[in-house]
Amino acid sequence: MAKIIVVGGNFAGLTSALELRRKLGHDHEVIMISKSPNFLFVPSLIWVPFGKRDLKDITVPLKPVATKAGLKFICAEILEILAEDKVIRCKDKDFKYDYLIIATGPEWIFDQIAGLGVNSKVSFIVTPETALETRKRWLEFIRDPGPVVIGAAPGSQCTGPTYEFLFNLEKQCRDHGIRKKVDITFITPEPFLGHLGVGGITGSNFILKKMLRMFRINYLTNVEIYEVSSETIVLKSGQSFPYKFSMIMPSFKGAKVVRDSTGLGTEDAFIPVHNTYQHKHYPSIFGVGMAADLPIKFRTPVPIGVPKTGYAADESGKTAAENIVRLLNGNNKLEAKPMGKIPDLCIMDAGDKEMLSITDSLLKPRRFSIVLPNPFYDLSKLMFEKYYLWKVRHGYSRLP
Ligand SMILES: Cc1cc2nc3c(=O)[nH]c(=O)nc-3n(C[C@H](O)[C@H](O)[C@H](O)COP(=O)(O)OP(=O)(O)OC[C@H]3O[C@@H](n4cnc5c(N)ncnc54)[C@H](O)[C@@H]3O)c2cc1C
Repeated sequence: MAKIIVVGGNFAGLTSALELRRKLGHDHEVIMISKSPNFLFVPSLIWVPFGKRDLKDITVPLKPVATKAGLKFICAEILEILAEDKVIRCKDKDFKYDYLIIATGPEWIFDQIAGLGVNSKVSFIVTPETALETRKRWLEFIRDPGPVVIGAAPGSQCTGPTYEFLFNLEKQCRDHGIRKKVDITFITPEPFLGHLGVGGITGSNFILKKMLRMFRINYLTNVEIYEVSSETIVLKSGQSFPYKFSMIMPSFKGAKVVRDSTGLGTEDAFIPVHNTYQHKHYPSIFGVGMAADLPIKFRTPVPIGVPKTGYAADESGKTAAENIVRLLNGNNKLEAKPMGKIPDLCIMDAGDKEMLSITDSLLKPRRFSIVLPNPFYDLSKLMFEKYYLWKVRHGYSRLP
C-alpha cells in the first residue's frame, strides 16, 4: 500500500486528492494536508470589498468533503519538504510519503514596489484578509470620495482580475451616486489593453478599449510603478497620480514552504516540472496549479506574467493524479498536458456587463480564440461560482 500526500486543499490540491481517491479505490492511502480548513473560491474575492460576497458565501469546509470522499484530511501548515528523504515536516509531526503532490499556490509579493505593502494606503484583493481590509477602506472612501487608481505591478500574473475589479468599482461608484466626484485611472504593465499575460485574445483589445472609453476611465499601458506614497502613485516615467483609493494587483512567487525546502524549487520558489507535472529532479514529487513553474516570458517593455488559471490548476491536478495512478500500476508512460496549452474559458465580470473569453490553448499558437462581450447583464460568473461550489461540496472532481 502506497501513501500519497497532497499538500494544498484548493483548486489544484482538492482536485488532485479527490481524483486520486476516485481512481485508486482504497488500495492506497491518500492524505490531503492544507493550512486552511476551507476551500476558497478565490475568483470571487473581487466582490468582497463591495459587500457583494461575504467570505462564508465563497468557502466550503474541507473536512466534510474529505470524509464523504473517504480521504484523510489534516489541517496543518507544512513547514519543510525533505525531498531526498521523502518526508514532509509540520510543526509537531513528520509524514513519510511514497508520492507527493505540491499544490501550495502562490506567495504574494506585496512589497515589490517602494512604499507598497499590506500597511500602505494601497489596497489588495488577493487573500481573504486583504479583501476584507479593502472593504473597510472602500466604505471610508464612499463617504469621502476622490481620485482612484487601479492597476497591476510589473510582472503581475493576474491582470484579468484587475480589470474585473476596475469595472466593478466603476459600477459601485455609479450605484452610490459618487461617480461624478471620482476620476478613475487604470495603469497596467501590459503592452496593450487586453494582453492579459497571454498575448491577447481575439477581440480583447478592441472590447476593453471600448469599455474603458464608455465608462470614462483614463488608462495607461506599459506602466512600471516606481514608488507609492500615502497619496500618490509615481511611475518610472516620472508621471504621478494622486489617489484617495487604490488597488494594485501584486505579482506572486511560489509558496514559502517551497522556498524553505532545500533543492525543491526554482529561484522564485515554483516547482520545476515536466509537462506531466512530475518534478524534474524528484520523480516521486509532482507540482500543480499556481505552485508549478511555467517558465514562459513575454518580451514586453515592462515585464508581465503569464496567468495560472483555476481551470489550469484543476487540469494539472487531474493530470498529476492520473500519472501517479499509472506509476503505481507499473505504467511509466505518463500523460503530458503543458499548462500553456490547456484550453481556457474565462469569465470576466464587469459590474453589470461581462466578457467571456474562449481559447483552445492558453498561449499562442492557437487554432481558436474569441472574446464575447455581454453588454446586458453579468450572470455567468455568478452561475459559475455556484456551480463550482456545488461541485466542491459534493466532491465531483471528475466534472470540468
Ligand atoms: C483576485 C483573484 C481573482 C481570480 N480570478 C480568476 C478567474 O476569474 N478565473 C480563473 O481561472 N482564475 C482566477 N484566479 C486565479 C485562481 O484563483 C488560481 O488559478 C487558483 O486559485 C489556483 O489554485 P491553486 O490550488 O494552485 O492555489 P490556491 O488556490 O492558492 O491554493 C493553495 C492551497 O495551498 C495551501 N497551502 C499553502 N501553503 C501551505 C503549506 N505550507 N502547508 C499546507 N497548506 C498550504 C492553502 O491553504 C491552499 O489550500 C484569480 C486569482 C485572484 C487572486
